[in-house]
Amino acid sequence: MTVFDDVERFVSRLSPEPVCDDCITEKLGLSIRQHANHKTRELAGSNGFERRKDLCSLCGVTKLVIRRH
Ligand SMILES: [Zn+2]
Repeated sequence: MTVFDDVERFVSRLSPEPVCDDCITEKLGLSIRQHANHKTRELAGSNGFERRKDLCSLCGVTKLVIRRH
């Protein structure tokens, strides 16, 4: 199980609610913020994942989030 799989699963579980990189990093216990950032950019555009500026369903802040349709 890779970090990428963890992120994909986490975002899918929250679907269709969007979640930001910071929350993904925190909830999955990732050490470096860039890590989640890199994974969500990789996810975006594939498999129904969409990355855009919106309200994060976990922290309530408007920033770059990712969600699955
Ligand atoms: Zn958030």
